[in-house]
Amino acid sequence: MPTHAYGANAADQALQAMQIERRTPGPHDVQIDIAFCGVCHSDLHTVRSEWGGTRYPCVPGHEIVGHVSAVGSDVTGFRIGDTVGVGCMVDSCQHCSACAEGLEQYCQNGFVGTYNGKTADPPGHTLGGYSQRIVVDDRFVLKIHHPEDQLAAVAPLLCAGITTYSPLRHWNIGPGKKVGIVGIGGLGHMGIKLAHAMGAHVVAFTTSQGKRQDARDLGADEVVVSRIPAEMHAHGGSFDFILNTVAAPHDLDAFTALLKRDGTMCLVGVPASPHPSPNIGQLIFGRRSIAGSLIGGIAETQEMLDFCAGHGIVSDIEMIPVQHIDQAYERMLRSDVKYRFVIDSASLA
Ligand code: NAP
Ligand code: ZN
Repeated sequence: MPTHAYGANAADQALQAMQIERRTPGPHDVQIDIAFCGVCHSDLHTVRSEWGGTRYPCVPGHEIVGHVSAVGSDVTGFRIGDTVGVGCMVDSCQHCSACAEGLEQYCQNGFVGTYNGKTADPPGHTLGGYSQRIVVDDRFVLKIHHPEDQLAAVAPLLCAGITTYSPLRHWNIGPGKKVGIVGIGGLGHMGIKLAHAMGAHVVAFTTSQGKRQDARDLGADEVVVSRIPAEMHAHGGSFDFILNTVAAPHDLDAFTALLKRDGTMCLVGVPASPHPSPNIGQLIFGRRSIAGSLIGGIAETQEMLDFCAGHGIVSDIEMIPVQHIDQAYERMLRSDVKYRFVIDSASLA
């Protein structure tokens, strides 16, 4: 089906309106009329091929919410009109040990990303949520139980929400734990809300003086401006866990120094060029870890959506028409987003 979309034809070209083709739903497919799509920093990294390997035309977008407009003959879990979401994955092998454990994001045969993934559909790679509709295998469609008027603010949960929820759960964050969230952007602001809701003592780290009060309003118990050494030193050796969401290379040692013995800093930001090599002695003397984490599995994404619905958690958003995407990217690069841009898909019509 011909579908209006917005994408780029090359790494150095601005996004523009384009027509794409969506497949006719097969027996296990769900067709979704997209209402809103969040704007993730990964969209920008991909569309500008900062990680390499981008296939063009590139239509980004993996924080998708909308309504079911058709279902295949074998779909039993969804009906026309249901409010649903799609995150960063649209398929995986379903038979490796990772898939068997519900960890499709670590599929040993490679999950299929919602954009820039391999597919039999034209043009041979997946095209994401900066579009009017999408057709997705029912195993990768999530149910949304938030009130309908919050739908736009639910969209960022599909990536920013799960990418912060999954490591917080994996490292057993809860009451009695001191948790740092580094970088108060799309991911970081969700990290603050979720760690707070899990009962942890939350310290936000920001390079932006202007986000001090915001971070408290989001749920941080304390805020540190990471450019001020005295504020950093005051927290030396005190954290159980630090979640680092920064999208640019930076000095990791300043943060590992803040971990307790056996503490972990989990990196989720994927900068286009490497961080300076960390100070290994600082890890050894203290048995500290630097770890990484990738989004979350489908079952855990549903768990996160239900946790957020139960706790009244949504993202703080600024809605834009799709035509403003390039200005939104430039503002994201200046850390000037409060705290996630969301595209109103009606602007594609
Ligand atoms: P974002 O909205 O741009 O937020 C990043 C934040 O990092 C900024 O708001 C800023 O916060 C801070 N920052 C930016 N430049 C910095 C610098 N040079 N030094 C220190 N801090 C800096 O981006 P996002 O959408 O949250 O994504 C963050 C990263 O996670 C991206 O690299 C993205 O690709 C990656 N990602 C990973 C996964 C995964 O599964 N692992 C999933 C989604 C996204 P302050 O103003 O507070 O300093
Ligand atoms: Zn993302």
